[in-house]
Amino acid sequence: MTKTHIREIFLSIQGEGPYIGEEQLFIRFCKCNLHCAYCDTDFELSKSKEYTVQELLTEINKYDRPLTLSLTGGEPLLSAEFLKEFLPQAKQYGHKIYLETNATLTEKLEEVIQFVDIISADIKLKSATGEEISSDVFDNFFEIASSKELFAKVVFNKNITDEEIQSSIALAKKYNFELILQPEMSGNNFTLTTAQIEEIFKKFITLYPQTRLIPQMHKFLNVR
Ligand code: SF4
Repeated sequence: MTKTHIREIFLSIQGEGPYIGEEQLFIRFCKCNLHCAYCDTDFELSKSKEYTVQELLTEINKYDRPLTLSLTGGEPLLSAEFLKEFLPQAKQYGHKIYLETNATLTEKLEEVIQFVDIISADIKLKSATGEEISSDVFDNFFEIASSKELFAKVVFNKNITDEEIQSSIALAKKYNFELILQPEMSGNNFTLTTAQIEEIFKKFITLYPQTRLIPQMHKFLNVR
């Protein structure tokens, strides 16, 4: 029987990206394959509970209505084996599937993409994450992901380079998706000044009009 560790399940408001303000049921998976410097997500295994597919369906269906299920983490695609069984059944109940992913696990995405409705993928910048990820990794991921409704979040700080701006835009142009710029926060404060945020936004929007600046709203609303 396939099982996976889930840190928490909670109904809240989407606080990031173009679906901001939408009610979603968040399912937070444990484990991540990256170690971003700004990560403030608690997805610790020791605080999690293990679910079978049936147990998770029962938990979700307590709400007794179709919902948008936000698969978040950690990195939900690390649970692809579980998702392959869970997602088709969740869709039978009318739930919509919204996948939040760090865009590095293409083979795992291929295993589940047919059940996913919306992909919120990150483009991870070394200047913000401290992680060196080859551009081929993102290229392969977005090639597959672009068959679905797709947008990319770019968390940036004052150290973003012109090369990073150009490579993010090249990817977005190639696969025709919107870029959502998200200024880095530490707790409830931006790590950049307003002037720095404006300057970086202008660099993007001048080269790529399909860019929006959307901070993490849940921090201002003080919701999870
Ligand atoms: S990919 Fe997301 S969950 Fe994983 S370390 Fe980075 S910010 Fe944290």
